[in-house]
Amino acid sequence: MSPYPHLFAPITLGPLTLPHRIVMGSMHTGLEEACDRDRLAAFYAERATGGAALMITGGMAPNREGGVFPGAAGLFTRADIDDHRRVTDAVHAAGGRIAMQILHAGRYAYGKDCVAPSALRAPIAPFMPQALDAAGIEKQIADIATAAQRAREAGYDGVEVMGSEGYLLNQFLAARTNRRDDEWGGDAARRMRLPVEVVRRVRAAIGPEMLLIYRISLIDLVPEGQSWPEIVELARRVETAGADVLNSGIGWHEARVPTIATSVPRAGFAWVTRKLMGEVGVPLIASNRINTPEVAEAVLAGGCADMVSMARPFLADSEFVAKARAGRGREIAPCIACNQACLDHTFAGKVASCLVNPRAGHETDLTYTPAARPRRIAVVGAGPGGMMAAITAARRGHDVTLFERADAPGGQLDMARRIPGKEEFAGLMDWFEGELARTGVTLRTGTTPDPAMLAPFDEIVIATGVRPRDPDLPGQDGANVLRYTDVLRGGAAAGARVAIIGAGGIGFDVAAFLAENGPSPTLDAVAWRREWGVTDPETARAGLAADGPAPAPPARAITLMQRRADKPGRGLGKTTGWIHRLGLRMKGVRMLGGVTYERIAPEGVHIIRDGTAELIAADTVVLCTGQEPARELADALIAAGHTPHVIGGADRAAELDAQRAIDAGARLAARL
Ligand code: NAP
Ligand code: SF4
Repeated sequence: MSPYPHLFAPITLGPLTLPHRIVMGSMHTGLEEACDRDRLAAFYAERATGGAALMITGGMAPNREGGVFPGAAGLFTRADIDDHRRVTDAVHAAGGRIAMQILHAGRYAYGKDCVAPSALRAPIAPFMPQALDAAGIEKQIADIATAAQRAREAGYDGVEVMGSEGYLLNQFLAARTNRRDDEWGGDAARRMRLPVEVVRRVRAAIGPEMLLIYRISLIDLVPEGQSWPEIVELARRVETAGADVLNSGIGWHEARVPTIATSVPRAGFAWVTRKLMGEVGVPLIASNRINTPEVAEAVLAGGCADMVSMARPFLADSEFVAKARAGRGREIAPCIACNQACLDHTFAGKVASCLVNPRAGHETDLTYTPAARPRRIAVVGAGPGGMMAAITAARRGHDVTLFERADAPGGQLDMARRIPGKEEFAGLMDWFEGELARTGVTLRTGTTPDPAMLAPFDEIVIATGVRPRDPDLPGQDGANVLRYTDVLRGGAAAGARVAIIGAGGIGFDVAAFLAENGPSPTLDAVAWRREWGVTDPETARAGLAADGPAPAPPARAITLMQRRADKPGRGLGKTTGWIHRLGLRMKGVRMLGGVTYERIAPEGVHIIRDGTAELIAADTVVLCTGQEPARELADALIAAGHTPHVIGGADRAAELDAQRAIDAGARLAARL
């Protein structure tokens, strides 16, 4: 019997019967605009081959004004329809089904022609939208219906109407953004009219044989968002208008509550979908931070939903479904919800990929073919880059030995997993360790090889990583000074007042680690909701607690400093940096930029800021001043006449993160 009986029970959605309960949720890959439909087709086909039965595309604009950014993909011409046909044909040939999401961004559209129910600029957008008049509203409805009709011509199995996350339809639904007083606004019934009319017209356009999914915002998480009775009423009207299934949308993009980041508890919003169970006749899909078959099974077994949507986990592993079905769940490469290579890439205008799986989005240009001539390969350093190189080379048929100085593999991942809110890194370490064993890599821990030991190998890969940078500050050898490695890995105790020197990713991590006063809220959904001010939308409009966020008191008083004059944390991930900054602010962490360090003394750190001398009183000072390459072995090998491949931090420490290290390991091993 399957370990996931609920997950692998068939289900009928309108005209489709699916073999399991997993939907691959909508993700923008960046390939949609790259005019490289074959690459996009390969992306989806690989996932259909891996068992994804129903996939939803990234959001397609119904017209130019509704595109998330200028040039956003859509179905505007005959040529577009033929292009999309290449994707749908590839998916069908692989045995899958695919629905096209229609996304009208409304006031979130990055363009001066953006439109909205009312002329109110979004806090996260630079453009003031134009308030739609009656004719303008009719045009938007007609364009959405036309896009649905074209999706049918392009061979899609269904469409998803995007009605959540604060996009146009959601903007009509909430008093926050809909200040009209006509037939499209003024009270809840009139605010609902546009989404309901859109669903009705889309159904009329596609006929009864195509699947119609409506993505409904179940908890807006913004002031003046929808009330729970309004959401239930909308769900019923949308069902009557022709939706076959309702997919859960959680929070607007402008909400100040994290909804998909790694610090959000797993399945942390499934309880909201559960509230709607029984209120409508169509199946419901739960979403957000569902990343393993176990979590998905628990959501279904707990009666939270009829199906689960997972998006990023299909970037991390295209064979998610096939592995789960075969009882090989432990082999699934885990999505750690870091956003680093997917959403952060999308926001930077790059093709989305995955930190854990660099092949995502690169199915046609990064391939792991069997090695023409298997060789003996030594990899030195079992951090993420070294482990990825070793696994990939071994999968290709090479005989790989992985050397690690420490007693266990993991490298920097071993520190990341200790940070509150980064517990997913532990799962990634487990997966790496499992893959080392499954691919037959010989792991030699507690070993520091020298050039003579490495000489017999055909190829040598140096992935020795980084060491903390020595900032050479007066007083840094004092008894009150620790390095971040002492704190995160060595378990060194810090005092009641802490000064952190260096406000990069690690400085932020150390501050979060030292501020937490108990178990991580990520592992306690109730504590997490209290911390971020999330509550039952039935008791408070939009699910925002009346008293706001109520974080647990910090464990200590912390000051985080950098020399650069800009605000600390500017360089953190595009889609997650605000969460780290806000999280520390909620813990009372003082963040200072433009600091000159004079000296460290037993009483704290003497600095100059704005031309004024200041003492940052501290019992403990932690150095988080970046890293330098650990490349002695590489240099010794080169001096001895070898030509090692140097990757990751050992090659270049600046801006090193697990994503770059893993990518370098995979790409090198694909070539060896
Ligand atoms: P980093 O991002 O380069 O930050 C180093 C910090 O030390 C900066 O604040 C820098 O600021 C300061 N610094 C550098 N040289 C110094 C010196 N000689 N004296 C005093 N201060 C000095 O390095 P990291 O924090 O070690 O992070 C390493 C990598 O991991 C980065 O790529 C980072 O993005 C990634 N990472 C990211 C996250 C995350 O996104 N949450 C978490 C962990 C790690 P000033 O020069 O202005 O003083
Ligand atoms: Fe998940 Fe991170 Fe990969 Fe995105 S980059 S799919 S969040 S593991």
